[in-house]
Amino acid sequence: MSLQAYLSRRVVTPEKTHPAAILVEDERIRAVVDPDQVPAHAEVNDFGDAAILPGLVDSHVHINDPGRADWEGFETATRAAAAGGYTLVVDMPLNCLPPTATVAALEAKRAAARGRCWIDWAAWGGVVAENQNEIEALAAAGVAGFKCFLIHPGIDGLTMVTEPQLRAALPHVARTGLPLLVHAELPGPIDAATGKLAGADWRRYSTYLQSRPDEAELSAIRLLLSLCREYKFRLHIVHLTTSLAFAVLQAARAAGLPVSVETCPHYLRLDAETIPDGATLAKCAPPIRSRDNREKLWQGLHDGTIDFVVTDHSPCPPAMKRLDEGNFKTAWGGIASLSLALPLMWTEASQRGFTLNDVARWMAEGPAKLAGSGRKGKIAAGHDADFVVFDPGAKFTVTEDRLHYRHRISPYLGEELRGVVKATYLRGAPVFVEGGFNGSPRGQEWRR
Ligand SMILES: [Zn+2]
Repeated sequence: MSLQAYLSRRVVTPEKTHPAAILVEDERIRAVVDPDQVPAHAEVNDFGDAAILPGLVDSHVHINDPGRADWEGFETATRAAAAGGYTLVVDMPLNCLPPTATVAALEAKRAAARGRCWIDWAAWGGVVAENQNEIEALAAAGVAGFKCFLIHPGIDGLTMVTEPQLRAALPHVARTGLPLLVHAELPGPIDAATGKLAGADWRRYSTYLQSRPDEAELSAIRLLLSLCREYKFRLHIVHLTTSLAFAVLQAARAAGLPVSVETCPHYLRLDAETIPDGATLAKCAPPIRSRDNREKLWQGLHDGTIDFVVTDHSPCPPAMKRLDEGNFKTAWGGIASLSLALPLMWTEASQRGFTLNDVARWMAEGPAKLAGSGRKGKIAAGHDADFVVFDPGAKFTVTEDRLHYRHRISPYLGEELRGVVKATYLRGAPVFVEGGFNGSPRGQEWRR
């Protein structure tokens, strides 16, 4: 394949944002050079003032395929992801049927994905009540790591683990060397809080928030850190929501425990004070907490307590959001945001003085590292030629036609956001350009 040069005055490499040319050959980045060092025989694509960021990586996506493809599916999820600037998504082992807790289920997922992905994908395996003996086989079959729930996940299929079940699984997880991603809420504090809400108005957001107290997260994280110390596995806390856990996380890091932490755009954009009653599009778990807590999450990103940002894209058929009754108890908990995450993050981050380099670290480099993909997440020699061409100054209003996933509902419809994804390149070729999709799905499974 011929040598291509991608030029911009704002190329976002791990070190800085600067004028540069990215030289690409055979789907990989050969080098990043000064614009005046482009070889004469290269084919030049000049993006001028638009920034070029690394293709984003989302290590927390629910594709729901196979089994619940009517909720989402490989084609629609990866299309939305491509439109959002992503070039690799890692699929959670639940909401699909069967859950990805056996090698046979992983193979069924691979069959469902074949030929239908617009970008690259990988799979997390599930650690469930009774699959301890599948864990090392799943690792050998190519999952990027594991996910478990300490509380009922809100859906049939993948089962939660109790502490004894988790203890039975952890020696196997530790032997694989792969990370264990944990939904960190314990049922005890939630059951106790919910018990006090008999007769409460479940149309009110404050009722839902009270039913999932900070203590549920905090007690789960304390338990996980002690297990991490005991079993020496790589612990990753998914969608951290409470800033009250910062102190124990910082202490664990200082003590050398291998723990990482993510949060999501909705926790960084929305706040409990402004979610209207009945607005179940904003229901997710753990819940969106106070404005004060939201600002502390930004501080946690700033000081490194939180490593990175993923979407937890978790769609459902619109009827499951119970929009007619607005009941926070019965509505599905989950927010779909793959196509909007980058502008959401840039809108909020740029107002707080953060840079495109920060965003690239949170949304590309960090999640790629968790997934163990040494070829994604950075604009650097040897990496896949995955880019987002992004106009950070442009603004747009969120409309249904920009969502691209299967069910076009969103808490962000009608809002004005800053930053437009102009194009997404997967391994050297455009998949999304100026609002349209290019070619046919050529995403591949990424395996360790
Ligand atoms: Zn999730």
